[in-house]
Amino acid sequence: MPSCFSALLPRAKSTRRQEEKPASPSREEKLPSSLARSAHSSCGQCTAWSSDLLPSYTAQDLKSSASSPSTPLPMSSLSHSLAHHIHNELQNLSPTLRDLSLKMWDLHEPAFTEHKTHDLFVDFFRGLDKEGWKITPHANGLETAWRAEFVHHSKGSMKAKDGKIPTVGFQSELDSLPGIGHACGHNLIAIGGVGAALSVASALVKYDVTGRVVLLGTPAEEGGGGKVIMLEDGAYDGMDACLMIHPCPEEMIGPLLAVVPITVSFTGATAHAGGFPEQGINAQDAAILSYNNISLLRQQLPTTARVHGILIADPDWAPNVIPGKSKMVWNVRSTTRSELDVVKAKVLKCFQAAALATGCKIDIEEGRAYDDVRNSQRLTDDYVQFMKEEFEIEYARKPVAVSTDFGNISYHLPSVHPMYKIPIDDPKTQGNHTVGFTSASRTPAAHEATLKATEGIAVLGARVLAEGEYRELLWKEWKEWKKGTEEEE
Ligand SMILES: [Zn+2]
Ligand SMILES: [Zn+2]
Repeated sequence: MPSCFSALLPRAKSTRRQEEKPASPSREEKLPSSLARSAHSSCGQCTAWSSDLLPSYTAQDLKSSASSPSTPLPMSSLSHSLAHHIHNELQNLSPTLRDLSLKMWDLHEPAFTEHKTHDLFVDFFRGLDKEGWKITPHANGLETAWRAEFVHHSKGSMKAKDGKIPTVGFQSELDSLPGIGHACGHNLIAIGGVGAALSVASALVKYDVTGRVVLLGTPAEEGGGGKVIMLEDGAYDGMDACLMIHPCPEEMIGPLLAVVPITVSFTGATAHAGGFPEQGINAQDAAILSYNNISLLRQQLPTTARVHGILIADPDWAPNVIPGKSKMVWNVRSTTRSELDVVKAKVLKCFQAAALATGCKIDIEEGRAYDDVRNSQRLTDDYVQFMKEEFEIEYARKPVAVSTDFGNISYHLPSVHPMYKIPIDDPKTQGNHTVGFTSASRTPAAHEATLKATEGIAVLGARVLAEGEYRELLWKEWKEWKKGTEEEE
């Protein structure tokens, strides 16, 4: 494939910074005391994060994914100019972004409680009012969501056609994980979104290109599906593409799993466990049977499925009382939405069988499902190529055994979710959702890695705004893929 970004190479080589060594903080050295206390309970919880641990997708699994490479389309000279400006702008923004990142890391607010984090970014964009940024606090009916928007109308040749202003969307995820802070690096995602949005907006003004930049502050990715709620409220309407980055232990880009959370409650009857056990209906037994049913079911599931759950211990349980109530929370994951439905149906039968066997009443509550992430083939190809040519960073194209509410966005419009590497001492034990990753997400080296990944999505986003032909191809390919998924269902 001819290089779309070759004109950037000489500049990139001369301006590339020396890679900083990771700061290598000891595990808890940099954690606030409130987080350090809970650190040991999570030590060594190595997540099955690396997709090397996930069996390969079969051709059948991937048939709904655009798997053939996109047709190369050379980047216009205007897009090259925008890219050059974005690179310089990000270097200028770096100290500001670093400051926002550290402040957010210190706040570490979990799902739907990101109030101070919300205010941090709302105040920041209010300060950019004179530069044309409009900020909407508490956006889309969510207390901790926000929307920042910038529009430039060209006075020259780059006017909007048919009154439609090309629009690109970026994301700033806001939530942390309970107890272990920013162990998923959402402080880095957040400044990636801010950096991309500001640098693209500045490039539109400098080169007088019509375009709209939308940055969404999205709460509750780690549970609650902030993006899904915002999507349903129209936050993504009118976007030509949506792009975000996510830190992890290696550079990867590929599909992510669909997931649905399920809460199961069993209600039986208490009884004296010694005196009248025959009068009890044991709700704990129903939970344990569910657990065992699912453990046996696993060997008959597709190797790409994941079913994992916990029994919520009830503080009122006592060994001399037959438990009358029990509660479990499960996650069911699979490669596609349609396969998820098949696996979920089998899992639900495991709960119902346990209720039948014990005589308990059962109540099943399904949470907000996250679709699998299907990156736009064109955005994937161009991002991978840009990162290789600009920074000599190679991305592995492979599936990743995690899930995100960005999956629903990928089914709504062309989008991309590259996962970039931040330096950590031991990728096996310090991946996402560990205290090692919490420490890693505030190092200078993680910040530098974030700037590079940000440049990748910002340059792509600018191209979406500047090149009508690029937008058309993007949507043509995405619509073909989407039609395939609908025929499959
Ligand atoms: Zn996470
Ligand atoms: Zn995350």
